[in-house]
Amino acid sequence: MGSEGKPIRCRAAVCRRAGERLEIEEVVVSPPRSREVRLKIICSSLCHSDLTFWKITDPPAIFPRILGHEAVGVVESLGEDVNEVKEGDMVIPSLLSDCQECKDCLSEKSNLCSKLPFKISPWMPRDGTSRFTDAKGETIHHFVNVSSFSEYTVVDVAHVTKIDSSVPPSKACLLSCGVSTGFGAAWKSAKVEKGSSVAIFGLGAIGLAVAEGARVCGATKIIGVDLNPDKFEIGKKFGVTDFINPEDCGDKPVSEVIAEMTDGGADYCFECVGLVSLVYEAYASCRKGWGKAIVVGVDTKSYVSISSYDIVHSGKVLMGSLFGNIKAKTDIPYLLKLYMEKELNLDDFVTHEVAFEDINKAFDLLQEGKSIRCVIWMDKAHR
Ligand code: NAD
Ligand code: ZN
Repeated sequence: MGSEGKPIRCRAAVCRRAGERLEIEEVVVSPPRSREVRLKIICSSLCHSDLTFWKITDPPAIFPRILGHEAVGVVESLGEDVNEVKEGDMVIPSLLSDCQECKDCLSEKSNLCSKLPFKISPWMPRDGTSRFTDAKGETIHHFVNVSSFSEYTVVDVAHVTKIDSSVPPSKACLLSCGVSTGFGAAWKSAKVEKGSSVAIFGLGAIGLAVAEGARVCGATKIIGVDLNPDKFEIGKKFGVTDFINPEDCGDKPVSEVIAEMTDGGADYCFECVGLVSLVYEAYASCRKGWGKAIVVGVDTKSYVSISSYDIVHSGKVLMGSLFGNIKAKTDIPYLLKLYMEKELNLDDFVTHEVAFEDINKAFDLLQEGKSIRCVIWMDKAHR
């Protein structure tokens, strides 16, 4: 390949200022260093976390930055000491490392690698530098180890999973973050069992993927809670059996409605919006004694305070779930197998598709609550 070992000039959608429309500009992508690979991105889907880091002005916000972290790409070239993948392999990059060597990666209990611990860092994880510069030679920052809104990007090999090239990229990219996060939150974090009752606050892609995970695990009652009434019809495609619009509950707290529907509280409740008020509501909606509240949504500003008296007397569990406890290199191929065997519904998550030039439209659609996932294609010929 002609580009190996050389910088590549290509197009990237750069976020220069918080909340301003992304500009497509020419950037320079350096060759991969030791344990890194350079990827040609095929497509990305837009996750709410991209929106969050596009909008916020305080650290860990940093500009200019290349966002995008739900993607599929092809390996263009390899840095030194990379044996796991080769040029031309189709891969899914992921925000969390799966080094497969550290105490955490070797344990079944965790996906929080301690060799390359997760940070909202603007740099490459191993040497703390950037692989992107703009036309003037100034540094552009990375986003959560992926930065896929660029025709080429550099990713650490601990953050890539090789996949079968027969899987449609617009479905595979969903497993790079959102669907793995939600599905894994039900399957691996909560460990939902057959016959369970589940309540999900927020039916975006993450909440719908929790529903899909709960359905596959055999939950029989799956209650979706969302302010957008359109989400119930969509939710049914992913196993949602009941719907609550908090605006229709009058003075009654949602937790009381859930307690009535489940004879005392749901077995598992998931916060998938990113509001601390809903963390309380999810905790309150769990059954005393064994209920588990799982925090998936990200609120960058607020704190949770629950009295120790309440914790002791309720016997409930409050836990967080990052990337659904998914270990990318083993669990993503398993989830793709479920998709290919038609056990896992990925198709209905993709509600919109746009060309790279129209990336700002994907932001509008997600903000307006019109899309579940909008796939952004780098090259129209792939569609
Ligand atoms: P989304 O915007 O597609 O969906 C959010 C949903 O919440 C929408 O359907 C909206 O109508 C609903 N909603 C908003 N306010 C509500 C309220 N007060 N009550 C009930 N419903 C309400 O977002 P998404 O892509 O599904 O992401 C959801 C959250 O998950 C975000 O906070 C995102 O940052 C977070 N996230 C976490 C991880 C993780 O690893 N833990 C990974 C990816 C995303
Ligand atoms: Zn590790």
